[in-house]
Amino acid sequence: MRLANIANRLTLVTPNNEVIDLSQESGGRFSPSIQECYERWDGLLEYARTLESTPGKPLAEVPPEDFGNPAPEPRQVFAIGLNYAAHAAEASLAVPEDLTVFTKFASSLTGPYGTVTLPPGTVDWEVELVAVIGRGGSHIPADKAWSHVAGITIGQDLSERTMQSAGPAPQYSLAKSFPGFGPVGPLLVTPDEFEDPDSIELGCAINGEEVQKGNTSDMVFPVPEIIARLSKVTPLFPGDVIFTGTPPGVGVGRVPQRFLAPGDELVTYMRGVGQMRHRMQAAS
Ligand code: ZN
Repeated sequence: MRLANIANRLTLVTPNNEVIDLSQESGGRFSPSIQECYERWDGLLEYARTLESTPGKPLAEVPPEDFGNPAPEPRQVFAIGLNYAAHAAEASLAVPEDLTVFTKFASSLTGPYGTVTLPPGTVDWEVELVAVIGRGGSHIPADKAWSHVAGITIGQDLSERTMQSAGPAPQYSLAKSFPGFGPVGPLLVTPDEFEDPDSIELGCAINGEEVQKGNTSDMVFPVPEIIARLSKVTPLFPGDVIFTGTPPGVGVGRVPQRFLAPGDELVTYMRGVGQMRHRMQAAS
């Protein structure tokens, strides 16, 4: 099943590529608040399944600016660093033996289309699979973890590298949390839609030039293992967002290094989910 945030409302995208507002269609049985829908995720899916052949409005007629982040109000945002060995290598860092975890503060999250204002410094790109939690819990075993995932979507973990590595004990979170640094979307796709949810191609391009192309099967800690290890420490809640790390091809690992510049168009894709499109602009 595919869902989207359209005009800040949870919307079903049917197999015929038509869209149905779930709160409206259900006569208010499900809240117009997307976060509240995650609290009742199993019931929502059951209802949405009955609508798959219901006619709706064509997806192609939805203006890009109406799409928002499908997980707009998470209680927690987790992000995993160095989760692809080839990315750790390009960053000249060792492959970690346990999760490297930071947050992107929720105010950095944004939708799948639009502009991103570049702060001064060295802003880099990182395509990532984003997992959104449906059913929460603590101590979730890895072999049950996919059943706790509401859906998979695309993320960009935009990162200001100079701040990220500054100081005696570098902290990633703030450098990855400027406004607009966490684009997510456009569709939230349930794990059962994928032939293998642990093997999905993802990548990004700048002005049409491919800079990253990877596969989630190369993760050091696959999604179920991330969920198991996070939930051993902190409970996971419905609607929580997990950025799962980036494959190689980021700008800081290049010779010479390359960073985003005003005017650049960043297109980020994941097979089975679609693509996001962002234009970089200078701070005024
Ligand atoms: Zn990242």
